[in-house]
Amino acid sequence: MSGHEQEFINEAFDTNWIAPLGPNVNGFEKDIENYLNENVHAAALSSGTAAIHLALKLLNINQGDIVLCQTKTFVASVNPVIYLGATPIFIDSEKDTWNMCPEMLEKAINDCIKNGKKPKAIVAINLYGMPYKVENIQNISIKYNIPVVEDSAEALGSSYFNKKCGTFGDLSIISFNGNKIITTSGGGALITKNKTTKDKAIYLATQAKDDGIEYSHTAIGHNYRMSNIIAGIGRGQMKVIDERIKARRYNYEYYQKHLGDIKEITFLQEPEGFFSNRWLTCIVFKTSNIRNDIMSLLNQDNIEARPSWKPMHLQPVFKSHPKYLNGVSEDLYNKGLCLPSGSNLTKNELNRVIKIIADYFG
Ligand SMILES: *Cc1c(COP(=O)(O)O)cnc(C)c1O
Repeated sequence: MSGHEQEFINEAFDTNWIAPLGPNVNGFEKDIENYLNENVHAAALSSGTAAIHLALKLLNINQGDIVLCQTKTFVASVNPVIYLGATPIFIDSEKDTWNMCPEMLEKAINDCIKNGKKPKAIVAINLYGMPYKVENIQNISIKYNIPVVEDSAEALGSSYFNKKCGTFGDLSIISFNGNKIITTSGGGALITKNKTTKDKAIYLATQAKDDGIEYSHTAIGHNYRMSNIIAGIGRGQMKVIDERIKARRYNYEYYQKHLGDIKEITFLQEPEGFFSNRWLTCIVFKTSNIRNDIMSLLNQDNIEARPSWKPMHLQPVFKSHPKYLNGVSEDLYNKGLCLPSGSNLTKNELNRVIKIIADYFG
């Protein structure tokens, strides 16, 4: 926490706005809109997962529809597809950003069309804060007229040719879960370029209650709105987002400076025009054996380090779903390691991690 959160929370208590609406909710949405700076509208919600669910609903995803999902991600990107009774088809990553491979995506679309069923949406991720290949994915989206849901849960503050992530999808989402670059403990937002869509999202997020004082409903809704207290945490956090990005990028640069010469380790570079918030520093080793050795050496010293996201097509729960693979996501899963990446790491702590890894290579 930054220290600014408590003022906003106190204000909520002092004015008795203890509800999933109020001045902090509106203020937090304004803060997000101003920060993203592309004339977007933000709807504050209870989680990033809820935002993805509503995004897919707003795109009219129904039972039996096909949704093309990046396989290299956290399961929350895909679960809402299942909530709606739709079928995810998993698309592998390319090597430059670890995100959705445009060639695999186009191949999947063409196969689906050949089989008589055009996909209804594309879910692309800005993984670990690195933007996906926005222009390539957008071109495919336009060519085939399939909308994109941009999952920017991990990428608040990242940008692509000076435009902020969270503004590239037909609908975009961000997350404020406890592990993200800024947090409200739990929370998320849906981002749209269209005020009517924002209003519709809020309608669906508040049990789809029709206007008027009667409790009248013509659609099925959800209880997905953000609490006014939680939004107060968000307003305090928005004051330090730039500091948090600086700290995360410093971690990455420090690790790279001290480990970058080891030839068995690869760091993910930013392609030209790509700016990552470096939410997590994830490095890739030459073999999975080396990765496993180092992971246990770190764990033995009480330092948490984990493999990078397990691709969705390898998840037991999704094992029978169709997939388009090129080996990239499995390789990253087998050889990748997420290093300690918190915004409050000290130089001593970073050095402790670095020493264990550097010593291993002698
Ligand atoms: C965290 C995360 C989500 C889900 O956000 P919640 O706020 O935790 O529901 C979705 N996608 C990705 C890639 C994430 O990392």
